[in-house]
Amino acid sequence: SVRTRFAPSPTGFLHIGGARTALFNYLFARHHGGTYLLRIEDTDRQRSTPEAVQQILDSLAWLGLSPDEPPVFQASRETRHAEVARALLARGSAYLAYDTPEELAAQREAAEAAKRPFKYDGSRWQGLDPKDAPSVAPAIRIKAPREGETVVEDLVQGTVRVANGELDDMIILRSDGTPTYLHAVVVDDHDMAITHVIRGDDHLTNTFRQCMVYDAMGWSRPRFAHIPLIHGADGAKLSKRHGAVGALEFREQGFLPEAVCNYLMRLGWGHGDEEVIPRERAIALFDLDGVGRAASRMDYAKLLHLNGVYLRGSDDDRLTRDVLERLGRHVVSFGTLGADRVRALMPVLKERAKTLEELAASAAFAVIEGPPPLEAKAAALLTPEAKARLADLAQFLTDAPWERADLESWLRDYAEVKGLKLGQVAQPLRVALTGSTQSPPIDAVLWALGRTEAMDRILAAAE
Ligand code: GLU
Repeated sequence: SVRTRFAPSPTGFLHIGGARTALFNYLFARHHGGTYLLRIEDTDRQRSTPEAVQQILDSLAWLGLSPDEPPVFQASRETRHAEVARALLARGSAYLAYDTPEELAAQREAAEAAKRPFKYDGSRWQGLDPKDAPSVAPAIRIKAPREGETVVEDLVQGTVRVANGELDDMIILRSDGTPTYLHAVVVDDHDMAITHVIRGDDHLTNTFRQCMVYDAMGWSRPRFAHIPLIHGADGAKLSKRHGAVGALEFREQGFLPEAVCNYLMRLGWGHGDEEVIPRERAIALFDLDGVGRAASRMDYAKLLHLNGVYLRGSDDDRLTRDVLERLGRHVVSFGTLGADRVRALMPVLKERAKTLEELAASAAFAVIEGPPPLEAKAAALLTPEAKARLADLAQFLTDAPWERADLESWLRDYAEVKGLKLGQVAQPLRVALTGSTQSPPIDAVLWALGRTEAMDRILAAAE
């Protein structure tokens, strides 16, 4: 059955492009009833950090893309990588190469001087009698095929091929006994019984070299699918200057993981005009034949729009929990009274926000106790006339029925009796209750704040 893996190197945060690679691996495995795995490629000891590993795990958990089994750590498998390198040696598919760094540098310089591309030549080591071997620690190099070509039927790129004359005898085990990356990937993918390698198309050229190891070991190759990278709106490689690029940055900015996944799925994969594709439907629809070959462009405005769609469709309790956490982090401390008000207002608040950050900002007035801070534009509306209006309203509101629908008709009646437009009543109230000139419908605000809190705010603004 299908087995896929996502194989990030823990040298930094999880990039949004990496998140999409993980998503495609996940969706493909789920679609085919298979297994989705994670391998942490931490063989570069200098650049790999435990913090980066944790960030990757956190990012995947947030996106709902945690693997089906505990992650495999590549560095822990070095003994196995070395074992396979020695097996290749024993089969005669690899040889010991005793070049010193100086000799290799000299070969490179000679190629440069002759203006031809450097290609390692290890012919002098092949068939060497061990007793003639120099006394330097050897590396193990694979014998690259010389004739014919290597052909890969890539599930996204189509047929790709290279003349074998272009391949060189790459090192699989360094002279210090550590495996090289390209060798380790093959051994791990084989041992993990990976059937489909889905990864960024920047790895396409590595594939031919990896095929040498599969073929020399007599292992069947997995299917490959090299997916195009994500670019910024200007077509350049996606980077910081285009906007958020780290998966967790999107969480910070108030994006919902299901919106991010939905957006990423449609980036480079399409199903007609269908835009909103929740997880279950994504699993049902996704396959690699829908993945295009052109690089896709990150469109933050589209993502924002989609996030708004998911936000409006989200459960109010869940949104309230998230918003309260955000408010607790940036703004204020508050009690259960404030929390209850936010929950009461959530159905109307979520209609107006595109991110959880916006949602939290729009809920700040409800969570605090006492009069809200006034925005400058709002303060300017508190004219003597508006204050008198508020004082009058306070008097009448004492007896108003405190249900949302009743409050709405009560406000209409009040405006009519006083010969005012509804806005002339609602706007000073809005300023008093929320400190802003924009808010959800005023009857909802009044109702959610409750009579006591609403009265306090109106009287404070009327002074
Ligand atoms: N570790 C590689 C990367 O982070 C991925 C290699 C692979 O998927 O084969 O780019």
